[in-house]
Amino acid sequence: MKRICILLMIAWSVQSFCPPAQQSLVTAQAPNPQVEDSDRFLQTAIKPPRPKRDYERDVESLVSRMTLEEKVGQMTQLEIGMITTGEGNDIRVDPAKLDKALVKYGAGSILNVKDHALTVDKWREIISDIQQASQKTRLKIPVIYGIDTIHGANYIQGATLFPQEIGMAATWNPALMQRASEVAAAETRAAGIPWTFSPVLDLGRQPLWPRFYETFGEDPYLASVMGVAFVRGIEGNDISAPVHVATSLKHYMGYSFPLTGRDRTPAWVPENYLREYFLPTFAAAVKAGAHTVMVNSAEINGTPGHINHHVLTDILRTELGFKGFVVSDWEDIKKLVSVWKVAPNEKEATRLAIMAGIDMSMVPSDYSFTDLLIQLVKDGKVPQSRIDEAVRYILRVKYELGLFDNPTLSAPAADFATAQGRAVSLEAARESMTLLKNDQGTLPLRKDQKILVTGPTADSLVSLNNGWTYVWQGNNRALYPKDRPTILGAIKAAGGNNVTYVPGTALDKEIDINAAVTAAREADVAVVCVGEGSYAETPGNITDLTLDEPQLRLTEAIEATGKPVVLVLVEGRPRVLNRIADRARAILMAYNPGNEGGTAVADVLYGNYNPSGKLPYTYPRTPNGLITYDHKLFETEDTSFGNAAFKPQFEFGQGLSYTTFAYSDLRLGQKTIGANDSLPVSVTVTNSGTRAGKEVVELYLSDLVASLSPPGKRLKRFAKVDLQAGESRTLTFNLHPEDLSFIGSTNRPVIEPGDFEVAVGGLKDRFTVK
Ligand code: BGC
Repeated sequence: MKRICILLMIAWSVQSFCPPAQQSLVTAQAPNPQVEDSDRFLQTAIKPPRPKRDYERDVESLVSRMTLEEKVGQMTQLEIGMITTGEGNDIRVDPAKLDKALVKYGAGSILNVKDHALTVDKWREIISDIQQASQKTRLKIPVIYGIDTIHGANYIQGATLFPQEIGMAATWNPALMQRASEVAAAETRAAGIPWTFSPVLDLGRQPLWPRFYETFGEDPYLASVMGVAFVRGIEGNDISAPVHVATSLKHYMGYSFPLTGRDRTPAWVPENYLREYFLPTFAAAVKAGAHTVMVNSAEINGTPGHINHHVLTDILRTELGFKGFVVSDWEDIKKLVSVWKVAPNEKEATRLAIMAGIDMSMVPSDYSFTDLLIQLVKDGKVPQSRIDEAVRYILRVKYELGLFDNPTLSAPAADFATAQGRAVSLEAARESMTLLKNDQGTLPLRKDQKILVTGPTADSLVSLNNGWTYVWQGNNRALYPKDRPTILGAIKAAGGNNVTYVPGTALDKEIDINAAVTAAREADVAVVCVGEGSYAETPGNITDLTLDEPQLRLTEAIEATGKPVVLVLVEGRPRVLNRIADRARAILMAYNPGNEGGTAVADVLYGNYNPSGKLPYTYPRTPNGLITYDHKLFETEDTSFGNAAFKPQFEFGQGLSYTTFAYSDLRLGQKTIGANDSLPVSVTVTNSGTRAGKEVVELYLSDLVASLSPPGKRLKRFAKVDLQAGESRTLTFNLHPEDLSFIGSTNRPVIEPGDFEVAVGGLKDRFTVK
């Protein structure tokens, strides 16, 4: 069992997953032999992509024939308005504008939508016009078009939409994430679009941040596993397959941790913590072969992401060995002057960004970048070699995407918006549902119970989806499908005439709380749906995490009737609700589950589906009680001076089921190991209740004494198991040396001798590292 992990010694990256000497395995006791743990998933999912062939010679030959202007053109990305006229569905390519962009400036990339999602046919028409023009240029270099496929191909009308990443994380099911991403990739490519600006690999450790729902939550390990699954699903093993596209890992890195919680404001993250928490997701996804990276649109430690040579070049290129290209975020080179004020003018900003490691600029609405970069090279301020390097990275991705063979390569239209895709979306929405409280067996509801449905998120597809849905802010109701039930619609479909609805409040305004209270008195149970509307990026900034006052008042008024209240939370970040949580009998977290979310909520409420989601973040009890599960123990233990300890409303990894699970026989392979040894840990989980259900088995490790004050515990492994009532399964996880390491004060992983504690499902045991 003993083995030496050379990787740990030669690579600093905490995500150098060492191949296990013995595959960690889940001992199947039938009937579900294919269950795999998170480590085994990574072992198979992290594999270098297999392009059709080696394109190095093609790239070199092309670069050798390109002029400076053509090269800089390849590094230029423009928004769609630069080549089109018209709005909405009347948008069309303007030949004169297209000619200017492609022939005069040689732009290598175009992105995004104008004002809203387009049909597949419209996209194909636009992409075809663009690529026809690209084929009229001297070297016939195809354009790489990119859109934000965030939770499905959300800028294509009728696309299958999935839970936002925060909900996908709650499934703790990377295989399901991969399947969802496969659907999203095929639907993106069905429109002729070969590139998506996703996944978001920022960590959700600052709940105020308006992009919280775009993340896989607070834990680097869970987010790494889900991020790799996303990449594998989107890219497959060969991005020239017509059902796959290239990913862009974003926003590299540290973007998600602004001190104020406001979007694009400063983060202060020392390098050891940057490496401990914010690098692993990117490192794992780079290792999984992701083809592009998008840059942190804000700053860390005073250095804007776009001029951070250490992060963009030393770490990304030299350490992680990234071979794809790096794209800036929206207008961010200009913002180095106007916002960050680290350059006196755009020319200097351009020099700083290119020299830091930006290969392509999302300019996106003029040609200043192109003109300035050409001048910089002519002035000798940017070496030709840096330009050649950037262009090589870009061309290699275009070759690997198959664009040189077929610039309009697309998935068959039959692959778009299929029944199978929708079924995956429903499965994901159901698996994301996280039951946080269920006192007195309030749930599941019975169909003969009289149900009042109330609250601002009860009848809203907008809340179910949040931002990045048909439009950037997700707020154009007219574009939503007419045939998907809201929560109200789905509850009515299940409960029929026993269901009444009173809106109660809008998100931030009372409508008819008294009417809701009257209706509650007539009902057996009140389902109160609260939460948020839709928002994306900076417009979603808030200054108080507390749930809006009218929603609290509505819930309190209904709770005061004494009728059982079931709270359904439809929200992209945890809104503080301590005023109403204790008196609610049951609380179901729905996150932003997408267009099948109404059905998924009703399925769980009525018990047609047994919930298995687990919270991927720590739900704060108070606005200032922000803390993550992997905090240091002294952060929550200080009651010596009568200070209130931080006590979250709900814990990371928490989630109830309609059945119960019992853990037994936690066994460690050895009690003493060397720093280079692996350690098998086995545990038996039993469905001790009366109905079938899925359980996420979570393994945590605590380094009891360390030279940097250690976190109380860290998630190291997980597995989702499906058990019939009475069924047991023994799982064996293998811990590897890097699981015992942390990033020390020298910014490198260290393993320190001493005692460690393993905890799984309430069982604990200790071992010693010699
Ligand atoms: C966002 C990115 C997005 C880009 C293009 C930016 O404002 O920060 O996440 O990919 O716009 O839509």
